Amino acid sequence: FQNPADGWFKLLTQEEGEYYNVPCADATQDLLKLKSQMQKSSQKKPLVMRSDTNAQTQSKKDMIRATEFNFIKVLGKGSFGKVMLAERKGTEDLFAIKILKKDVIIQDDDVECTMIEKRVLALGEKPPFLVQLHSCFQTLDRLFFVMEYVNGGDLMFQIQQFGKFKEPVAVFYAAEIAAGLFFLHSKGILYRDLKLDNVLLDADGHIKIADFGMCKENIIGDKTTKTFCGTPDYIAPEIILYQPYGKSVDWWAYGVLLYEMLVGQPPKIRGNFLTKQPNKRLGCGPTGEADVRIHPFFRRIDWEKIENREVQPPFKPKIKHRKDVSNFDRQFTSEKTDLTPTDKLFMMNFDQTEFRGFSYVNPDYAVPV
Ligand code: AMP
Repeated sequence: FQNPADGWFKLLTQEEGEYYNVPCADATQDLLKLKSQMQKSSQKKPLVMRSDTNAQTQSKKDMIRATEFNFIKVLGKGSFGKVMLAERKGTEDLFAIKILKKDVIIQDDDVECTMIEKRVLALGEKPPFLVQLHSCFQTLDRLFFVMEYVNGGDLMFQIQQFGKFKEPVAVFYAAEIAAGLFFLHSKGILYRDLKLDNVLLDADGHIKIADFGMCKENIIGDKTTKTFCGTPDYIAPEIILYQPYGKSVDWWAYGVLLYEMLVGQPPKIRGNFLTKQPNKRLGCGPTGEADVRIHPFFRRIDWEKIENREVQPPFKPKIKHRKDVSNFDRQFTSEKTDLTPTDKLFMMNFDQTEFRGFSYVNPDYAVPV
């Protein structure tokens, strides 16, 4: 041995390497090469031996890591974790990265919700009204959703500035949101968390629905589900009554959101979307989508133009510069971007295989212009 190794080395499997967020050795690298690397190396770097080629995991070339980003500001926060504005090092590419702590996910029994969120974000041929996913990656203690940065802030922030919206403004946002819901429902997905905070505005003023953590998949035809979930002001009566439900719950929340846009506060009276019986509610019958499209509220809407984003938005958010976060709540943007360490003992003892298949790179990601 010309350069004997002077430390302890641990060979990680591909899976462990992914969790530790360290680069993978090349697929063709054999054990001998690894051994000689270990002998040459004077540093205590972990090495990864790639055991097989797993379609779910990323190749070395595509693998995204936390160290590739500078975290700039906190954009939003909740029980789930944080959403941060981040710049990919060496580029001018900005992203909104949602960071979830694995210990919190496991304690709250939310592993399945997180994997659903990833699958919905990763759906192909999404309309532009749903936030785009760039990639997903994980470290030992966290999950990261790298998304396009939508910099106009959310509708809650806008309502707080304007008080309420004039009818044509609400009609425009409602039509774009409906186009997003039509797509999700056509794929058998219930969104289940429609609210002002989850509807973002892009730089031109078009809407983007974010946060797919409460979605339910495979609700096709007459299939229903019965999980009690949602945000208090927006929960449909059928959920409160513990009845099996379908897409009707999204149209109820849509009605609440519409009311809030027009009136500036949560609803006290009923409208077509706020009909208590789900089967009589607008949007919920077998011809629901068509019923919404032809409703007099949308009489001035050309749906084809809406869906192609050819209708000029009523309002262009004020954005002073690339990294401007003034459309986000100061309560969040003034926070530190540190990621607090997770309890090591807890991390060593939980089953990482639950997050297998989370890492992903979207081949169709289109850089927002
Ligand atoms: P969420 O839990 O996904 O609703 O995110 C919480 C908050 O983070 C939202 O209300 C937004 O203010 C912000 N946010 C989430 N996703 C994005 C995004 N892609 N771009 C900009 N801000 C975002």
